[in-house]
Amino acid sequence: MIRSLLVANRGEIAVRIIRACKELGIRTVAVYSEADRQALHVKMADQAICIGPPPSKDSYLNISNIISAALHARADAIHPGVGFLSENAEFARQVQLAGLVWVGPDPQAIEMLGDKVSAKANAKKYGVPCTPGLEGAVTNIEKTVEAVRDMGLPVIIKASAGGGGKGMRVVRKVEDLADNIRIASSEAEKSFGDGTVFIEKYLENAAHVELQMIGDKQGNVIYLGERDCSVQRNHQKLVEESPSPLVTPEIRRRMGEDAVRLFKGIGYFGAGTIEFLFKDGQYYFMEVNSRIQVEHPVTEMITNVDLIKEMIRVANGEPLSVKQEDIRFDGYAMEIRINATAPGTVKYYLPPSGFKVRVDSFLYTGYKVPPTYDSMVAKVIIGAPTRAEGINKMLSVLSEFELDGVPTNLESQKKIINTSIFRKGGFGTNVLDAIMKEIG
Ligand code: ADP
Repeated sequence: MIRSLLVANRGEIAVRIIRACKELGIRTVAVYSEADRQALHVKMADQAICIGPPPSKDSYLNISNIISAALHARADAIHPGVGFLSENAEFARQVQLAGLVWVGPDPQAIEMLGDKVSAKANAKKYGVPCTPGLEGAVTNIEKTVEAVRDMGLPVIIKASAGGGGKGMRVVRKVEDLADNIRIASSEAEKSFGDGTVFIEKYLENAAHVELQMIGDKQGNVIYLGERDCSVQRNHQKLVEESPSPLVTPEIRRRMGEDAVRLFKGIGYFGAGTIEFLFKDGQYYFMEVNSRIQVEHPVTEMITNVDLIKEMIRVANGEPLSVKQEDIRFDGYAMEIRINATAPGTVKYYLPPSGFKVRVDSFLYTGYKVPPTYDSMVAKVIIGAPTRAEGINKMLSVLSEFELDGVPTNLESQKKIINTSIFRKGGFGTNVLDAIMKEIG
């Protein structure tokens, strides 16, 4: 039984998890680096423990400090949030070895999916259509060049351990391939400590469509609809929406059934996201994120399911509180990520509010945004009956957002969703180029 939970994270996601725990009557333990003494999650938790100096590797990535803090605070469980150690199977294992409950999937499932080459092999095994490409990892560069010549270009080189768009390179000419493999591999080695790369056909301007999944330890797995995350800069998401203008109920059902088969096949429980590329009415498996995602509130808004509470319930050994047939998609939802473009001190903060308006953030007047971590400072989520109304609503809501002292991308996000291209919908991941042209 989870009575006390340590949140191994910071920022808005730590605040989000602490709120869910409070509602469930669970005592909360925050951890923080020396740069985060004044952070909101520290103020909100019942107890807070400093786990080291500002650099992530010494604090939020320091496994032994986090586990010591949990034991010291007599926490029963650890929720890893997003980023940092959230997809680290070794951390999950150590949490369990320390006698604590890991709020996430089994470490073995994390391993099977965390490595993109093995994730793809599993997807294939369970009959999920995969992005075409060369099988397995690149082992011999010359052979790979020949194989790509046969398969055709363009291709994309991807890091097996990749995340956040790092170690990814698009190649359009076969003579550029060998060099780019070497560069991608060394980038991957530097970022993830693993230089393994693999090659896929580059599906030009496909949409990024992902399905929210959740399962319990009783073997139930359900899907909670898709999120379209095609508005991206350098393979990083800027806007997320649901439903996707491209996905019909029939495609949603097929994608969902394929995903459920894969998740049940590998014995997955907890929250997870399966990402697909979507082109010409076809979907292709890309990867699974074995954790909660930044954009989860989009799904919460249209399904009315609190995903963080479900994760905690499942970790506790309880069955999911909802069944597939209970899941209804209520209208439309959108999330906008607000990123700080430079560090600064918040001089004035007044977030928007209203019917189906949600702001997940950790800002407050007087808070000094440290330069050390992720640049995202707030997420604004709205729900509306239709996409057209949703766009108007988001524009109006963002206009109410007052934040002085910290420069952000808020105005540029408004411009993006106010273009005719965005309003039309049904685009792929190249859309930002076209949008920028329209903005001029
Ligand atoms: P990461 O884990 O680094 O976020 P993903 O595998 O999720 O990497 O890919 C991120 C983005 O890169 C996708 O949303 C898409 O825009 C692009 N991408 C990845 N693979 C392909 C591909 N085969 N064809 C076209 N675009 C791709």
